[in-house]
Amino acid sequence: MNIIIFCDMEGISGIFRKSQVTLNEPGYQEARSYMTQEVNSCIKACFDSGVRTVVVRDVHAGCNNIIWEALDERTEYMIAGNPRKGRFDGIDKFDGLILLGYHAMAGTPQAILAHTASPTWQNCLLDGIKVGEFVLDAARAGQHGVPVIMTSGDDKLCAEAKSFIRNVVTVQVKEGLSRESGKLLIQKKAHEKIYNGTVKALKNCSDIKPFKVRKSVTVRLEFIMEVPLSLTRKDVKLINGTTCEVTGSDFEELINSFIF
Ligand SMILES: [Zn+2]
Repeated sequence: MNIIIFCDMEGISGIFRKSQVTLNEPGYQEARSYMTQEVNSCIKACFDSGVRTVVVRDVHAGCNNIIWEALDERTEYMIAGNPRKGRFDGIDKFDGLILLGYHAMAGTPQAILAHTASPTWQNCLLDGIKVGEFVLDAARAGQHGVPVIMTSGDDKLCAEAKSFIRNVVTVQVKEGLSRESGKLLIQKKAHEKIYNGTVKALKNCSDIKPFKVRKSVTVRLEFIMEVPLSLTRKDVKLINGTTCEVTGSDFEELINSFIF
């Protein structure tokens, strides 16, 4: 079995404030270490479960956060840096995707560092249903036939994931109290939960189906301010000054059309 792990930062245990996930701000260097140790717990569980190949992709901000030299040496390779598009290229070689350290969608109350993709996005709706980064990634992997088998983060992220994919394994490593506060599991316990959750997800892998969107899907973006000028294009329908949408059959392409 081959597994790919996408690792974000906001949902890693021990992380509860913005400066920890912001390059060179207070707490950032420690948070990189938390992230690396947490992904290593997940990798160890993969190899202990008989996984043949593990690839790790850093997906937070500039995608250069995991401490490369400290990554479990059995990892095939790590994907670092932000190519903007092409996050899902080659994903069909993998049997399952793990979304580690994820966070709830923009606007979720009492969720640690909740947002969706960009601080300029107020809401992202898929055929009228609000979604966050968990679904945006699950749906793009699903388009390639790859299921999300496990995710981790705070209690709100776990609830969000379960509401879209019933039998995905969720690992709660903290409870959100507000945007920048939470009840944090101690690190050792959090890593044990990540390990056990990964083992469980790999055991149940065949029960978890890829997340599929409808053949023709509409993605609507509500911005906090005006729709950016770069989106005043023929393929983008302007609903009002702050809202626009695109409709099509290639979901990955639709999401790419919003990345500029
Ligand atoms: Zn992030």
